[in-house]
Amino acid sequence: NTSAPESQKVYKIVLAGDAAVGKTSFLMRLCKNEFRGDISATVGVDCKMKTLIVDGEETVLQLWDTAGLERFGIISKSYFRKASGVLLLYDVTCERSFLNVREWLTMIEDASTQVVPIMLVGNKSDLRATAASEGQKCMPSHFGENLARTYGALFCETSAKDGSNVVETVLHLAREVKKRT
Ligand code: GDP
Ligand code: MG
Repeated sequence: NTSAPESQKVYKIVLAGDAAVGKTSFLMRLCKNEFRGDISATVGVDCKMKTLIVDGEETVLQLWDTAGLERFGIISKSYFRKASGVLLLYDVTCERSFLNVREWLTMIEDASTQVVPIMLVGNKSDLRATAASEGQKCMPSHFGENLARTYGALFCETSAKDGSNVVETVLHLAREVKKRT
C-alpha cells in the first residue's frame, strides 16, 4: 500500500533553554546538517519541519525555535502550548545555563495541560576537553542525568558543532512522544 495518509500527524516540538546554549545551532545541525559559528542571536532557522523514520514509521516533526526572545525573558507560556515534546538545552560549559534549567522546567509544567515528554540536552559536549584543560568549570554528565531523573525527563549530551548525538537525541524524544500520544 503506497497511498499516503490524508492528513499526516505533525508533532510540535519546542526548543527551550537560556540564550546562547545552542538551540538555533542544534536545529541547523538537525535540519541542514551544518554548523555556523557566526549566527546572530535573533536568527531562527528557516527549516522547521523534519521528517524522521521512527520505529519504521515516517514521522513529521514541526520544530519551534525561540528566535532570541529568551534573552529578554519574554518567552510566554503560549510558546509551549500544544507542544508534544520539549528539547530543553543547556551548555555543559556554562553553569548558569544548567542552574536555570529548573526555572525552564517549572515554566513548561505551568504551561502544559498534560505531562509532556522533555529531553534535557547538555549541548557543546565538544568543548568539554578544552574547557577542562583551561581550568573552566564544566557540568559533569551525572549532574544532567540526576536532574533529568528528578523531573522524569530524558537526558542526552550533544554537540551541534560536530553533530554528535543530535539526530539520536531527537529520535529518542520522538519515540517517547509517539508512545504517549
Ligand atoms: P541559542 O541562543 O540558544 O540559539 O544559541 P546559538 O545557536 O545562537 O549558539 C550560541 C553560540 O554557541 C554560537 O556562537 C554557536 O556557534 C555556539 N554553539 C552552539 N552549539 C555549539 C556546540 O555544540 N559546540 C560549540 N563549540 N559551540 C556551539
Ligand atoms: Mg537562537
